[in-house]
Amino acid sequence: MTDILIKAARIIDGSTDRAQDAVDIRLADGLVQELGPTLAPGAETMVIDAADHVVMPGLVDAHVHVNALEVNLKVNGQLPDPIVTIGAMNMMHRMLMRGFTTVRDLGGATGAFRQAMDAAPIPLPRLNICGKALSQTGGHTDQRGPLDRSPTDGYQDRLGTMGVICDGVGEVRQAAREQFRTGADFLKIMANGGVSSPSDPIHFLGFSREELLAMVEEANNVGSYAAAHLYTDDAIRRAVECGVRSLEHCNLITAETARLAAAAGCIACPTLITYEKLMSEGPSLGLPQASIAKVDDVRLKGLESLSIMQEAGLPMAYGSDLLGGMQPHQSGEFEIRAQVLPIPTVISSATHVAAQLLNMEGAIGTLAPGAFADVLLVRRDPLDDVSILSGQGEGLAAIVKAGNIVKMDMRTQ
Ligand SMILES: [Zn+2]
Repeated sequence: MTDILIKAARIIDGSTDRAQDAVDIRLADGLVQELGPTLAPGAETMVIDAADHVVMPGLVDAHVHVNALEVNLKVNGQLPDPIVTIGAMNMMHRMLMRGFTTVRDLGGATGAFRQAMDAAPIPLPRLNICGKALSQTGGHTDQRGPLDRSPTDGYQDRLGTMGVICDGVGEVRQAAREQFRTGADFLKIMANGGVSSPSDPIHFLGFSREELLAMVEEANNVGSYAAAHLYTDDAIRRAVECGVRSLEHCNLITAETARLAAAAGCIACPTLITYEKLMSEGPSLGLPQASIAKVDDVRLKGLESLSIMQEAGLPMAYGSDLLGGMQPHQSGEFEIRAQVLPIPTVISSATHVAAQLLNMEGAIGTLAPGAFADVLLVRRDPLDDVSILSGQGEGLAAIVKAGNIVKMDMRTQ
């Protein structure tokens, strides 16, 4: 890890509607050390002139599934662990090359997987995990169709599955404790029907109120929080009332519930790009017919939900939630949101707001002293045109993660 001095950095992090005045940024020991008008390099320092670029903190995607190699999650759950491990590592590397230096996995990646990735031979984003998502029998990670009588024992032990099946207060508490014991940073609850599972229409409420309260208590007991998979207004309101903090998707939220969630200190994590791609690419990538029929139940209200949450003052973190071969569209969520939200708001969803959601404020999503040295040099100002962040990282001249240079290609175009 070299000491790095970035000269003439005009920082954009979504907190203002134009690039900040140029400063020098010194990176060392994997952290941002200082910012100042004219910092002097040491003898060993690598100097990067950012005058022709804009500078951003590394981006955060707060809803990914790194182990989802396949769009069909039943097929994915049957893949052998070594196949999933290498496939997931490669997908994570590509996330980093799109500028995402931190990703939050919402079901599937385990503590053991994360530890293995610490020894990966290629650079990867920082991984924040929930372990396996908690689902009731017939819920959003139960991949058995109505005619399937196979048992779910050992289901959660396979790396390619998204969740663990648990029912009743005793089992959900035990499953929650097991996730935290094995390294989870937070808890994921499947509290509503979902698109990619066969037995739960969108309107289904997942778990009883009693079970939700028990899972939230288990998360709070370890100083963490609960995230829940949610679409319908009933499901969202019930989750907020039960103390869930991270509200995933929220496509069908009403203004009243959005205000309730904002007052309760919740953060939403919409994932609209995934419904666009499930519709356009899902069938050719093996999405089952039962899932295709459900996509429009949530897709058509997506943009409206962004405006409702914005007006209610409910903060939104960046999420993509893409599966398998759809993952290259990870950065497409920026452009979708920019159709209805101001660009600084869209950018802050992947910086400050996501950092707050992950309980990592000051460490990620910012270039303040003490933060991880996660830095992007962008070829054009995303406040003028956010599509510069799209694609596979072509708009990024440099990517630095924890002080290590991952990419350096300083051509201005
Ligand atoms: Zn998800």
